[in-house]
Amino acid sequence: MKYLNTEEFAHQTDTRDPLGAYRDKFYFPEHTDGKEAIYLCGNSLGLQPKSAKLYIEAVLDDWRHLGVKGHFEGDNPFATYHEALGEQMARIVGGRKKEVVAMNSLTVNLHLMMVSFYRPEKERYKILIEKNAFPSDQYAVKSQLEFHDYDPKDALIELEPRSGEDTLRTEDILELIRNRGAEIALIMIGGLNYYTGQAYDMQKITQVGHEMGCMVGFDLAHGAGNLDLSLHDWDVDFAVWCTYKYMNSGPGGISGCFVNERHHKRKDLDRFAGWWGHEKATRFLMDENFVPIQGAEGWQMSNETVLSMAALKASLEIFEEVGMTALIEKSRILTGYLEFLIEELRSDRIQIITPKQADARGAQLSIRVINSDKSLFRAISHKGVIADWREPDVIRIAPAPLYNNFSDVFRFVQILREELGI
Ligand SMILES: *Cc1c(COP(=O)(O)O)cnc(C)c1O
Repeated sequence: MKYLNTEEFAHQTDTRDPLGAYRDKFYFPEHTDGKEAIYLCGNSLGLQPKSAKLYIEAVLDDWRHLGVKGHFEGDNPFATYHEALGEQMARIVGGRKKEVVAMNSLTVNLHLMMVSFYRPEKERYKILIEKNAFPSDQYAVKSQLEFHDYDPKDALIELEPRSGEDTLRTEDILELIRNRGAEIALIMIGGLNYYTGQAYDMQKITQVGHEMGCMVGFDLAHGAGNLDLSLHDWDVDFAVWCTYKYMNSGPGGISGCFVNERHHKRKDLDRFAGWWGHEKATRFLMDENFVPIQGAEGWQMSNETVLSMAALKASLEIFEEVGMTALIEKSRILTGYLEFLIEELRSDRIQIITPKQADARGAQLSIRVINSDKSLFRAISHKGVIADWREPDVIRIAPAPLYNNFSDVFRFVQILREELGI
């Protein structure tokens, strides 16, 4: 698409946008002046679907009218409430129906997956992660290493960009895996780095990881609902994600988890069991021996947080309607427009560190503010932009294709221009 740096172009593009009507299905927060804020923070907390309240109220109604019978009666019985969510998320991440489950929260699921898939042996006990991984992932892998009596200083290998570069080169990632793969028990990388916005080549990493005998898992907190994913076809071992970022399920919303079907029937895997992972037909016989469901659901522990799942259900219905293909098509054009407008500023005070190639990023650009304190970020926030700041010097801007439009992006860059004094 040929972009123009005019408000008219942004407006025209919005009127032709096939997903334009979806904006109205979400609530936008207000700025202090009472006007709609320019919300570009869906990578941190997605906006509330207007339908979320109805779905939550439906659960409250069933509980009110049916009490415990709500587990098996009503339009959406509590005991099976998660099943449709798993199916819908499977379409979003490219998994088979039995490979995806909605349960718990993200870091909890990451730990549960490492219980099963981090299986250190004498010579092969290390974990590979990216150096600037999200802190919770760092804490999780380090604490797993320590739990197995390894010292993270020795047992954690961190991928670092070349000096003077901000993002990792695929060739460097693969070379490290080829060189040191025999030491690595688990490769666990954030599929899209929260800080730089870089999306990694998960297919190649999985392929080379497997050639070297490693387990391969991804944290898709920033990837699910944002990137074009084919977890099953790529043969990824496991993946975990939260749904409150691009999937709009509300603060602390339920997490998603993918377990490759290759592992479903394995009896040699450790897992932390709970009654909700027990085979459904015999779950309520309350037998003392655990018989896991043969599927990702076999990793469930507790009965479901249905009220929280209701908000996710509201959002996933919208994803079903739109489909990932249309969503990603718009996302690439929209993020491309943001990049175009920022480059048009020709400012040497800011620099985009997110990769330029469309398949190496999602709906986020990370803007480094050269020699900055937080003042530029504060100034744009004061003018009604909701984005976020990541220490030491990055503003993250995420135009979410489900509800953001070209005019949002245009207005944001206007404000950025004013505050840069251009
Ligand atoms: C958002 C995010 C988390 C947050 O974890 P919770 O358990 O949901 O609090 C963890 N890891 C990554 C990579 C994230 O982006």
